[in-house]
Amino acid sequence: MALPGRAQVVVIGGGVVGCSVAYHLARRGVTDVAVIEQRKLTHGSTWHAAGLIGQLRGTASLTGLIRASVATYAGLEARTGYATGWRAAGSLRVAASEARWAELRRMAALGTSFGLEVSLLSPGDAKELFPLLNDSGLHGAVYLPSDGYADPSQLTQSLAAGARAAGVRIIQDCRVQGFAGSDGRTDAGRITAVLTERGPVECETVVNATGMWGAATARMAGAGIAVTAVEHQYVVTERRPDISADLPTLRDPDARVYLKPESGALVVGGWEQGTRAPWLLPPGGATPRTPRLEIPADFGPELFSPDHERFAPLAEATANRIPAFGELGIQSWINGPIPFTPDGEPLIGRADEVANLFHCCGFSAGIAGAGGAGAAVANWIAEGDPGLDLAGLDPRRFGPRYCAPDLLAKSAVDAYGSYYSLSDSEGKR
Ligand SMILES: Cc1cc2nc3c(=O)[nH]c(=O)nc-3n(C[C@H](O)[C@H](O)[C@H](O)COP(=O)(O)OP(=O)(O)OC[C@H]3O[C@@H](n4cnc5c(N)ncnc54)[C@H](O)[C@@H]3O)c2cc1C
Repeated sequence: MALPGRAQVVVIGGGVVGCSVAYHLARRGVTDVAVIEQRKLTHGSTWHAAGLIGQLRGTASLTGLIRASVATYAGLEARTGYATGWRAAGSLRVAASEARWAELRRMAALGTSFGLEVSLLSPGDAKELFPLLNDSGLHGAVYLPSDGYADPSQLTQSLAAGARAAGVRIIQDCRVQGFAGSDGRTDAGRITAVLTERGPVECETVVNATGMWGAATARMAGAGIAVTAVEHQYVVTERRPDISADLPTLRDPDARVYLKPESGALVVGGWEQGTRAPWLLPPGGATPRTPRLEIPADFGPELFSPDHERFAPLAEATANRIPAFGELGIQSWINGPIPFTPDGEPLIGRADEVANLFHCCGFSAGIAGAGGAGAAVANWIAEGDPGLDLAGLDPRRFGPRYCAPDLLAKSAVDAYGSYYSLSDSEGKR
């Protein structure tokens, strides 16, 4: 598609988040929108996500955000005519310790107060819903019938199709290289045009939906935000006839793992200790004293090599909880970059330094969050208010200190490693 010379709103990034923002803008009647993607749609983190969507989070706003995603995804295929892979299969979260069980009971009470249907189950009841489960040593489980999973690529294409049908222009293979400002500078005031490798696009509002590249995009506008990428892995087993697509998703936070059924196989991922921040580089070049953190602009759908050793403790714990996993061979292994902030939660809100720039990036659970985040940012642009309390996700919650490469990488690796740990796991996917 030809690059327009002008658009009311430019959304940078064609992952699930950017496409959701465009879709929701169009639903609110804002159709003079251009989505600009440097590669192809989904070619950042989105295509390789496992696709689990869990709504039980530690705050009303995060829960509200993901409930809004579920509401978007449930009706999307009927609205656009494009499949999403959305399946409301339900979810189980099991407790293998008394402390975890206390945490789950607290989360269940919170979830109920946020309006979710949540049940507390005995280990035996959990096993009935998930017959492959070894329930020995379990204290109980939480069940959410309205949780589920989607196919991340199909979901994104469906959102894009809905946006396109309303008039949104989606431009692929076009990199954004900078911004022009009304004061003649590119680093302050208001952005008046987005500068791409194919030419400028004048605009009124810009959305930074560039995932793990969010900090690089912000820097082009003279803004600083704390987001980077770390490695995240999951495996897909061989198929077995008793692995039904009707199984709920399963999270065993004490084992640090999550799991979903996929075409008769099991998808098992988790939060290993000591993951890598792959693009933290030693000092050199223009920064002879400090490390550099540069996510390559031309990185696309590529993956990293599997790290078997790092995944081994998770595989062992899964084989204990789901003995079938230990009996099955691994059919494929995904190790991809996942956006991460110092607290593992996304950055959604106005840029401090630039009046007409919104950040909506840094999602560690962007498949779960995109539907609601897109709706919130679209509300903000169309009506001046996101419609949800997003104060806890304000990009300004991390000061400039956290934008320093070494601290940003370290805090992202630490936040990743403690994603399901007892003190932190309330509210993680
Ligand atoms: C192995 C793995 C499993 C995962 N499983 C789950 C899961 O089960 N559930 C879940 O909710 N999340 C999961 N995630 C996380 C999920 O993948 C991300 O949160 C989500 O894809 C982020 O979407 P996004 O649109 O923000 O980013 P992206 O998909 O990365 O999109 C950003 C886009 O911006 C483009 N871009 C960047 N810079 C520019 C520029 N200058 N000009 C133009 N375009 C630009 C990029 O090319 C990219 O396409 C998983 C991640 C991994 C790695």
